[in-house]
Amino acid sequence: MPDCLFCRIVAGDVPSDQVSQTPRVIAFRDINPQAPTHVLVIPKDHYPDLAALAAADPGLLAEVTSVADLVATTEGLAGRGYRVVFNTGPEAGQTVFHAHAHVLGGRPLSWPPG
Ligand code: 5GP
Ligand code: ZN
Repeated sequence: MPDCLFCRIVAGDVPSDQVSQTPRVIAFRDINPQAPTHVLVIPKDHYPDLAALAAADPGLLAEVTSVADLVATTEGLAGRGYRVVFNTGPEAGQTVFHAHAHVLGGRPLSWPPG
């Protein structure tokens, strides 16, 4: 998808601070971090949101969540706790319509979210 920001990051056309990669998934730091660790984990293939990814390729969704856990461990969050969020649709505040998991941690996270 040429006009998709995260597809452009996958292609290397937009720079990113990458922290992990598998053949089908990449993880990179959010440009506007909301916590000391704020990493985005995305499938390299384009799916507009979690619903589309889950319907089309549950195995790829599992790989995204596995990489999210790996990133949390690498960031030193395994014992402290971390949060994985898929904002999906307008009321959840999704702004980039390429499915992505936010991995957040490194400070106490409030619940419920605002
Ligand atoms: P959403 O609101 O769709 O769940 O999350 C999109 C995320 O992408 C936001 O947290 C935003 O800060 C991040 N973001 C937007 N543009 C860029 C960018 O060019 N590079 C990186 N690394 N993150 C971005
Ligand atoms: Zn895309």
